[in-house]
Amino acid sequence: MKNLPVLVLLAALVLLPACTEATSQQQPAVQPIALAIHGGAGTILRENMTPEREAAYQAGLNEALDAGYAILEAGGTSLDAVVAAVQVLEENPLFNAGRGAVYTHEGTHELDAAIMEGATRNSGAVAGLTTVKSPIALARLVMEESRHVMMVGDGAEVFADGFQVERVDNAYFNTERRYQQLQRALEREQSSSHGMRLPSPDPELDIAPEALAYGTVGAVAVDREGNLAAATSTGGMTNKRFGRVGDVPVIGAGTYADNATAAISATGHGEYFIRGVVAHDVASMMRYADASLDEAARSVVMDKLTELGGTGGIIALDAQGNVTMPFNTAGMYRASIDADGNRVVRIYED
Ligand code: ASP
Repeated sequence: MKNLPVLVLLAALVLLPACTEATSQQQPAVQPIALAIHGGAGTILRENMTPEREAAYQAGLNEALDAGYAILEAGGTSLDAVVAAVQVLEENPLFNAGRGAVYTHEGTHELDAAIMEGATRNSGAVAGLTTVKSPIALARLVMEESRHVMMVGDGAEVFADGFQVERVDNAYFNTERRYQQLQRALEREQSSSHGMRLPSPDPELDIAPEALAYGTVGAVAVDREGNLAAATSTGGMTNKRFGRVGDVPVIGAGTYADNATAAISATGHGEYFIRGVVAHDVASMMRYADASLDEAARSVVMDKLTELGGTGGIIALDAQGNVTMPFNTAGMYRASIDADGNRVVRIYED
């Protein structure tokens, strides 16, 4: 029995790690919360910005970030947080979503939006809306109150009639700046068909027509339950043809969320994001190739999308509250608060 102390010690050494493991399983570390938002990517150059305009964009991003983060901090759901953030941006005329949406070729507005929750992969999408003030609110109703995932045009508007959804005249979405962008795009189209190219007095407007539109808005979040959500809302691309639908409402292209991988919201030249199935590709690289969030997002945006000829960017986060926001354009309006509470609000690469 003189070996008893040694035996006790050995038993303790064997049992201790198991006990610690059990304790850490009973008391998991607090699930982090995080939120990221974007207000569009494109040819956003410092030299074309005034300090006032830059400050206005930053204020808009901060306001949206605060609206969404307050919900997460209070223990609310990621779904509520992304809707709140997107709605602030939809109401801000600086961004190409809701008021301030770009014009179609015909001089009207057609709005697209989508939402997805990562726990269930339930999703709702709307396209070609003309009178719904908050497209993201209707996308959520499609997800929660219909048997469908995507509703478009008149059918979506009739569906909206069944709910207390605020409606507006299409002219509500008008802004002078977006109108001037359409005029520039139409002039360019005309002059290029005649082999001429007219310079613009406003450098912000004198950029490639496909870059004129950017300003789509989106948000991704993880809540205290570890649930992810993604939401995106847009007026699409300036001078788009009647009936054109971009990547935003295409689940897996412009919007995607899955608790096991990531929540993603995209902005850029939608046709390429659809062809590259961009948002889902990020999730797939994480799931099947074991890539980290950042590796997957960067490889899809900087390599695969660029190879295809597509321009734009994404915001993405995972259940650990890691955030990444890569883009292959000159700038992307973006902001985030990560798992450690670090707040970032940026426009250009640096
Ligand atoms: N992706 C949007 C679309 O193609 C445009 C944008 O992001 O600004 O409709």
